[in-house]
Amino acid sequence: MSEQEAKRESKHFIQQAIEADLAAGRFSGVFTRFPPEPNGYLHIGHAKSICLNFGLAKDYGGTCNLRFDDTNPTKEETEYVDSIQEDIRWLGFEWDSLHYASDYFDQLYEWAEKLISEGHAYVCDLTAEQTREYRGTLTEPGRNSPFRDRTAQENLDLFRRMRAGEFPDGSRVLRAKIDMASPNINLRDPVMYRILRATHHRTGDKWCIYPTYDWTHGQSDSIEGISFSICTLEFENHRPLYDWYCEKLGIHHPRQIEFAKLKLSTLLMGKRHMLRMVKEGYVNGWDDPRMPTISGYRRRGYTPESIRNFCADAGIAKFNSTIDVIRLENAVREHLNAVALRRMAVLDPVKLTITNWPEGKVEMTEAINNPEDPSAGKRQIPFSGKLWIEQDDFREEAPRKFFRLKKGGAVRLRAGYIVDCHDVVKDDEGNVIEILCTYDPETKSGSDSSGRKVKGTIHWVSAEHAVEAEVRLYDRLFTVENPGDPEEGKTFLDYLNPDSLKVITGYLEPALAEAKSGDRVQFERLGYYVVDPDTTPQKMVFNRIVSLRDTWGKMEAKGKAN
Ligand code: ATP
Ligand code: MG
Repeated sequence: MSEQEAKRESKHFIQQAIEADLAAGRFSGVFTRFPPEPNGYLHIGHAKSICLNFGLAKDYGGTCNLRFDDTNPTKEETEYVDSIQEDIRWLGFEWDSLHYASDYFDQLYEWAEKLISEGHAYVCDLTAEQTREYRGTLTEPGRNSPFRDRTAQENLDLFRRMRAGEFPDGSRVLRAKIDMASPNINLRDPVMYRILRATHHRTGDKWCIYPTYDWTHGQSDSIEGISFSICTLEFENHRPLYDWYCEKLGIHHPRQIEFAKLKLSTLLMGKRHMLRMVKEGYVNGWDDPRMPTISGYRRRGYTPESIRNFCADAGIAKFNSTIDVIRLENAVREHLNAVALRRMAVLDPVKLTITNWPEGKVEMTEAINNPEDPSAGKRQIPFSGKLWIEQDDFREEAPRKFFRLKKGGAVRLRAGYIVDCHDVVKDDEGNVIEILCTYDPETKSGSDSSGRKVKGTIHWVSAEHAVEAEVRLYDRLFTVENPGDPEEGKTFLDYLNPDSLKVITGYLEPALAEAKSGDRVQFERLGYYVVDPDTTPQKMVFNRIVSLRDTWGKMEAKGKAN
């Protein structure tokens, strides 16, 4: 068993908690939910939560619901609801049932009346500022609101009138009556309802009071029969409130368990920041291939498998930490290495002419599609006397250890012949614009009888047969480890990488003319690329998914990254 497999086999603390509860008969099964707020697109952090919630349900033969936590009418939109469903499915998961917290508004209202009647909630008329003042601080207890001792009858009447729209926005709230001296500020009479005239994406104008997150979440879990309500660490201090509501209502009581949010170096995931990037045009929408959104990664060409593998290997933690984004990129490389077809493409071309090649002759040569997968078969590639090769693969004068092509030297053309460079043609400024070679007919790959050995092999494309394509070279959006934590006087915008997108024209082997939007290939010796949906019959567009090797690590080692 590899170290990775061993790690996957060993149980993390949530699995241990679940197994203990099941063994103790506390719950009859593993019923989880993924509860996004539809106020933006999902990001790679959400993928972690999705893999965890859906994964646990699957592993223990339970169910996992999708629930939109839509209690905040001013920020929520149907566009987000749709994109979230698409992204979860793309990641490879399917919910057992779909719910909206807003479906429970009637039930929540009824329960609020119940708490009021039993003396556990009251209508409070303090202003927002007064409420803050009365709440106290981490070191000082709060003070009771002067409205705390209203009778149940009076509270019920006021609450009904709140609902009926008799009071202006923000003028009153409904609060739970818990303990203004509690060391946990969340228990100092938290707000349950606020007055807000806003059109909700599902309930329209039916309500002018909206429940808070805390008053909604646990009860929604309870209604759905959730057993394990998994959330991130910032809700640890809310757990006593979650428990209090369930106990006071006497309803099914799920267990809340917290884990650490996924944080990745160089990425900025908060919806607040992402929304700004999109709205202010720093990127081309939520699915810009540089965004850390699921839809961005999809368009970038990442595979669902690689994201799932990454999430599994990152593990489940109880403490916050940052994971190097290289681990995500490596997961993508690992998966694509196994499945992507190899193709040749020249992205920074210079002409190579074979001077002893018969004029007009075209010869088909054969190359395997994927050395990692024999079942992927072979393909034919046209070879001719006029080729494109990468500028970088040629030096007029080169150090001894330069094993690509140099003047007076020889190199093997992949799936072709060994060529010897005897001369170059230059423009007026002295740049090499054409490399003149002869080919050695004895050296054809696969039937080489020459016994000649050369150290280097380079890729090429026959100029006359090449497919021209737009190639979008994506790179990291931010140049620093933690763009969300800017130095004084700066914002995350100061760390945008000015070279995060370069658009060039590439020359591709003709087999790629058949590729369709979403197809992923390896451009040999360069990296992995995907056909972008912007592709039209007139013009193909490719996105760089990831280079073959990590160039950032290397540059950083040399102090050149910034
Ligand atoms: P953000 O503001 O970054 O989008 P959020 O927590 O406000 O995050 P929600 O839509 O409320 O986003 O989250 C839905 C679920 O995904 C929650 O259970 C939340 O805990 C989980 N989640 C969000 N971000 C992460 C993350 N970085 N790592 C793991 N789980 C996360
Ligand atoms: Mg949120």
